[in-house]
Amino acid sequence: MQIALIAHDSKKEEMVNFVIAYKHIFEAHNILATGTTGTRVMLECFVKVNRLKSGPLGGDQQIGSLVASNEIDLVIFLRDPLVAQPHEPDITALLRLCDVQCIPLATNIATAELLIKSMERADFAWRDVVKAKYKQLPKTGTDD
Ligand code: PGA
Repeated sequence: MQIALIAHDSKKEEMVNFVIAYKHIFEAHNILATGTTGTRVMLECFVKVNRLKSGPLGGDQQIGSLVASNEIDLVIFLRDPLVAQPHEPDITALLRLCDVQCIPLATNIATAELLIKSMERADFAWRDVVKAKYKQLPKTGTDD
């Protein structure tokens, strides 16, 4: 499975602690992350991370693009609901695309815990079926 990690600045410590706590699960999957979140996770959790651009520089949009093509199975996005973000439109777009594609999305640590535990129980097996189906669809460039 492909897991995308994003954490706003005040939530980065929480993300690092979360990945350490569930390192045995994260190590079994491909991890992608926005730039700064990914760097911290890599250096502090010793987990392999495919780092994209920093969120404000387009990282959320890069993840959004992968979500749009159904390549991400779980998004853990620890948002700071109390601070306005300069790239708010990118964030809104990413959340919307998760809903468009029905991608499991956690925006706080409580939901993240539930989803990562369900991943451990193989509750995400349905994603393999969805992805296999998605790959079979003809690419029209307009409606898929
Ligand atoms: P960052 O991006 O991991 O590069 O800090 C996160 C964000 O603010 O979207």
